[in-house]
Amino acid sequence: MKIKSIECFVLADTLKETFYFSQWEYAERRICVVKVTSESGHIGWGEGYGPAGVLKAGIEFLSPFLIGMNALETETIWIKMYRRTLDYARRGILVASISAIDVALWDLKGKILQQPVHLLLGGKKRDYVTAYATGLYYTKGEGLVDRLCEEAKQYVEFGYTAIKMKVGLSIEEDTEYVKKVRNTIGPNIKLMIDANHAYNLREAIILANSVEQYDISWFEEPISPEYYGQYAELRSKTTIPIAGGECEYLRFGFQNLLQSKSVDIVQPDICSTGGLTEAKRIATLATVYGVDVVPHTWGSGIAFSAALHFISNLEIMPGRMFSPECFIEHDRSENPLREQLTSSSMKFDNGKFVISDEPGLGFTLNEDALYKYAIDDTANKFAIK
Ligand code: MG
Repeated sequence: MKIKSIECFVLADTLKETFYFSQWEYAERRICVVKVTSESGHIGWGEGYGPAGVLKAGIEFLSPFLIGMNALETETIWIKMYRRTLDYARRGILVASISAIDVALWDLKGKILQQPVHLLLGGKKRDYVTAYATGLYYTKGEGLVDRLCEEAKQYVEFGYTAIKMKVGLSIEEDTEYVKKVRNTIGPNIKLMIDANHAYNLREAIILANSVEQYDISWFEEPISPEYYGQYAELRSKTTIPIAGGECEYLRFGFQNLLQSKSVDIVQPDICSTGGLTEAKRIATLATVYGVDVVPHTWGSGIAFSAALHFISNLEIMPGRMFSPECFIEHDRSENPLREQLTSSSMKFDNGKFVISDEPGLGFTLNEDALYKYAIDDTANKFAIK
């Protein structure tokens, strides 16, 4: 079952409406997708999280080392990729390139063996996963708060039982928007907030204290991910659970986060933190510290499917009386790539995704959409306009 070829695609599309959050704005969506083909003719698809052109360069650096290796040996291949990169980039984008290839290899292994990835990871621990809608980004123009409330209302009507909204504009605006969204969705829908590390410790404490009354299920990335100690201090000053980890890499990065008691919930992104192979190690590490895992998930249906399989396999804290509700992040912001690139066997039903037993990651890739959105990113020119 040798790896015959590895191909890489950058896909891009301009959005109808630009949206923004505390760090920057999105006017387009751009992703990096990798296709691994075995000598037997089976195909696996993967995706990386991060700047697509840089991911592609990383994948193209790694690919020659992997041609001819046994595609089923996901761990052996992972170690080879890591050893080829760790001298230059022990964290960051090269790890995300490893992740994209690793996800494709798990999909490929499932296709070759005709088994779902959750079974190959060790078995399904649950038949469904609760989806939380990620949205409520900011748009320019009048009436922002009314638009946020209307969007939140639509998620509830669609069946979501949990919603995550952005914060990070200012403590005053955040508090007002959280209050209005909570009043719109009522008391029975879970509400999470995500600052994308907009604040310093003092500001994060003030914001946490001012929105505690609105029953917040977690406060995500309140502070820059560099400040583990400040996360720990924030935790001691609020009853809101603190979440983070989407900018963290490998089990070594998560060890820092866990050892410093920085978070109640870790959020590895499978497509950047080291793929399914490493995400499983991180999940095991999290059980050692008794911390919950809710992966960060962004991008196309490839990333989403990888997260669903991972969560369906996720081990909970041993001996815990009740199994906690497991969540998957379901990005609802505008993304034609996500809507068109894959069709999934995992169906949304009443706020939950039902786990299917289709082989591999359980989606069909639409190659027409792949070529429709593929761009030649090597043709970019940088100059003053
Ligand atoms: Mg986030």
